[in-house]
Amino acid sequence: MATVNLTREFDEILPVVVADRRHFHEHPELAFEEYETAAYVAERLRELGVEDIKTGVGGTGVTGLIRGERGDGNVVMLRADMDALPILEENAVDYKSQVDGKMHACGHDAHTAMLLGVARILMQHKAEFKGTVKVLFQPAEEVPPGGAQAMIKDGALENPKVDAAIGLHVAADMPAGQIAWKVGPGSAGSDRFRVVIQGRGGHAARPQAAVDPVVIAAQAILALQTLVARETDPMDSAVVSTTAVIAGDAFNVIPDSAEIRGTVRTISTTAREHMAKRLPEIFTGIAQTMGGSADVTYIQGYPSLQNDAAIVEFVRNAAIELTGEDNVIEGKLGLGGEDFSYFSLEVPSCFFNCGTRNEERDIVWGHHHPRFDVEEEGFVNGMAVMATAAMDYLNAM
Ligand SMILES: [Zn+2]
Ligand SMILES: [Zn+2]
Repeated sequence: MATVNLTREFDEILPVVVADRRHFHEHPELAFEEYETAAYVAERLRELGVEDIKTGVGGTGVTGLIRGERGDGNVVMLRADMDALPILEENAVDYKSQVDGKMHACGHDAHTAMLLGVARILMQHKAEFKGTVKVLFQPAEEVPPGGAQAMIKDGALENPKVDAAIGLHVAADMPAGQIAWKVGPGSAGSDRFRVVIQGRGGHAARPQAAVDPVVIAAQAILALQTLVARETDPMDSAVVSTTAVIAGDAFNVIPDSAEIRGTVRTISTTAREHMAKRLPEIFTGIAQTMGGSADVTYIQGYPSLQNDAAIVEFVRNAAIELTGEDNVIEGKLGLGGEDFSYFSLEVPSCFFNCGTRNEERDIVWGHHHPRFDVEEEGFVNGMAVMATAAMDYLNAM
């Protein structure tokens, strides 16, 4: 049961949140370069009276504390990401990006402004909760290794120790105001590989004098699929895709080497670790058997995001109570990456979606598209759910 219904209050402060969002939208900064954005955030938090403001956490990250006045208790962390993308905006809006080739095309401008809105309202309701809310603004969600990991390494989950985390992402494919929750995995572990197979080049008519890296590559690429078909639990999920094969450029020459690139997507840690171990073994083993060698680079991206059932319940209940059963749906598992996953592996977490689509206003373009935009009316529900879930969680602990 929510402490108070915050929807009306968020409605009232929406103009301030929209102004902040448009400011960020006009002044986008790329991953790990969010200097102006972070300074604006810190200034706003100071103005609101948020305590213990820390800047420069994990690069340009900012954190602050809102202490409930009902006494000691748990600490819940609320997270926003601040980075923009290297995209030239194609929207004709008066808050269009003022920086050529940079654009908030994923909605992180909205996340940052919304979390400032949440902080504003929670500051006015300190008397109604115990424990502490830690607001966290992170750099570089879009570029692995990402800002979440950097902030964790810099101690963002300590002093005070964070017990649970909540984050949200606006969603271009959900109508404004709709809320989607999901228990369990919320995104895929996303890794990449690059392999250089070294053979021995030669005349195409004299293969016996050469070691053909193209034939080695062909064998290895097919064998890779057995990692999914024969070595992954059928009830688990994994995808291995070879997306580039680069070798040779003549009709009559066996090339000296071949390069292979691709991606691995997994849901469970077990499958992820298995792939990271077995993929290099397949390449080196097959190459060796056939007289060549393989140099494998395996690059780990973001891990799979894990939503904790208990924390999701606070979010789901708040959403149903504030926005009505019809506005709340169970989300689907996407295979995109999201570095909130690092927080979700450290503390029980919930990452939920907040719809910002509006077909009437042609706000329908997908994330990372040059015409991406958000229906700002949708912020109210996202903010109200986040703030209410945080308070309810703290009061229940
Ligand atoms: Zn994105
Ligand atoms: Zn994003």
